[in-house]
Amino acid sequence: MSTNRLAAITVLCTIAIISAVLLVHFEPWERAPSAEVCTITTIPSPLGGGSISPAEGSYESGNRVILTATAASGYVFEHWDGDASGSSNPLIITMNSNKTVTAHFRLMPPSANLTVHFIDVGQGDSILLDIGDTELLIDGGDKSPGVVNYISQYVDGPLEVMVATHPHADHIGGLIGVLNDFEVDEIWLNGETSTSQTYSQFMSAVNSEGADVYIARRGDTIHAGNLTFSVLSPVSLGSDTNDNSIVLSLSYGQVGFLFTGDAEQEAEASMLSAGIVPDVDILKVGHHGSRTASSLQFLHAAKPEVAIYMAGVGNSYGHPHQETICNLREVGADIYGPDAHGTIIITTDGATYSILPSNNVPSVDCLPTITYDLTIGVNGQGSTSPGAGTYEYDTGAEATVSASPASGWNFDHWSGDVSGTSPTITIIMDSDKDITAYFGRIPVTELEIVSVTSTVSPGAYATLRARAPPGAQCTITIYYKSGPSTAQGLYSKQADTNGDVSWTWKVGTRTTPGSWRIVVTATYEGQTVSQETYFTVS
Ligand SMILES: [Zn+2]
Repeated sequence: MSTNRLAAITVLCTIAIISAVLLVHFEPWERAPSAEVCTITTIPSPLGGGSISPAEGSYESGNRVILTATAASGYVFEHWDGDASGSSNPLIITMNSNKTVTAHFRLMPPSANLTVHFIDVGQGDSILLDIGDTELLIDGGDKSPGVVNYISQYVDGPLEVMVATHPHADHIGGLIGVLNDFEVDEIWLNGETSTSQTYSQFMSAVNSEGADVYIARRGDTIHAGNLTFSVLSPVSLGSDTNDNSIVLSLSYGQVGFLFTGDAEQEAEASMLSAGIVPDVDILKVGHHGSRTASSLQFLHAAKPEVAIYMAGVGNSYGHPHQETICNLREVGADIYGPDAHGTIIITTDGATYSILPSNNVPSVDCLPTITYDLTIGVNGQGSTSPGAGTYEYDTGAEATVSASPASGWNFDHWSGDVSGTSPTITIIMDSDKDITAYFGRIPVTELEIVSVTSTVSPGAYATLRARAPPGAQCTITIYYKSGPSTAQGLYSKQADTNGDVSWTWKVGTRTTPGSWRIVVTATYEGQTVSQETYFTVS
């Protein structure tokens, strides 16, 4: 953040006035053009920090103009430069030429240290902000362990502001004891109700407190002493209690904080699309470090240097999740959490900050994902799904591979790092795996005579049906007493795509009755097999 802000004022004279000045030098005094004017134009500072008055005006040449620099809230006037110098304010200038004057402002350092306590309440949120005799408490953790003992070390007089981000027990439970034991001036709620006993106890404590109670919505500001918080969320209540959390940003001097309650990625997306995610130094990580919050896009906008997730030792949710820690590492944040560090205290003077404890190793860290290669090979004719090649899987992933034989081939088995004969296998990827699908040719010995006309009279027709490997070249020979038949139709045929092949022929009228041998052959990829049968002519 820049510490200097400028406001510039340009004093412009017209060409006619410059002529008039020349006339002063070369003409008699009586002819001095006392009616000529200079025009002052204020250029509004684009950066803020302060302004100069008068904003605009016209002055006769030779007149004195009083310029006053006014600092904006949080800034102080420092000095003038340009065609004037020094730090006197107001500044008097005499309009004897064109002038450009700049007022410099700087950020006013906060007068006191702010301490922010991220209190170890186990699995829950409780954050105390303390500056001088002003204290603000965001959430109170669960009913036990309670935060009364801890905050009583720091709260002087009343607790100025209490914020309950949303009505879950790990946020409002401990606030019941705080309301019972402390005088609270102002209470901010998200307005959501709950059927829980904790909520009804909390609300009866709120109602009997006599504090001013407000419902926080985006655009609201919360004041506590010199601190001003901006409410960034919620816009309105939705169905998800976590996403209804009050989200607060605070700038203390140049140090920015973002307190997110249990807001998750839906609330983050709303703040992102509204363009209101501030660039902060310290982020209270959403929803105890759950992977349902802290999207990388949100973290890239907030750019935290320090991230604090509020998770308890051994919590049943597995918070903080490794994905969240990886995202926080990705944006370069130092990561703290009460499960690893106990209560974490940040102290800032508005320019720099310090953090205790100094060790920032979280309870969970981002480990690189281990991947393994699955290499699939094919032996014989067939394919696999996924196809032959090498694939990467996360450790522990299940890889399913199927084998499909080509026409005329059978799947036979898997070999390599897995074995088996089922065409579909599932492999647990706990190391690199190399597997091969073996396909075998369908043996031609599968030639089968399916049927033949059993008894035929001379002069009638007979049919033989066979099944062979699809595409096999097949022959049929009928051996009568007189030798092989020469009947029409007994020529070589190719089995169709189903492997079916059949012949129909006419038995000659002079064929000798009897039982005659029929031989069928199939030739496929260089191998020939044969089968025989008999049929009767009578
Ligand atoms: Zn929570």
